[in-house]
Amino acid sequence: MGKVTKCCVCERKLDKNAVGLNNKLLDKNLSRLFCIDCLAAHLDVSIEDLNAKITEFKEQGCTLFL
Ligand SMILES: [Zn+2]
Repeated sequence: MGKVTKCCVCERKLDKNAVGLNNKLLDKNLSRLFCIDCLAAHLDVSIEDLNAKITEFKEQGCTLFL
């Protein structure tokens, strides 16, 4: 921790949900990170879908989201 992670598109600061989602849905060795909004556009899914994913991963106890 301590590293500031920003969206590669809009430079919004990412919360850990967004970072966790990048790790889950994209390559593990990410050189670029997306905020929820830009990730939705990038993956061509809705923000609701991504929020549902976050909830799902949390329920699975994924440590990326704790
Ligand atoms: Zn963004």
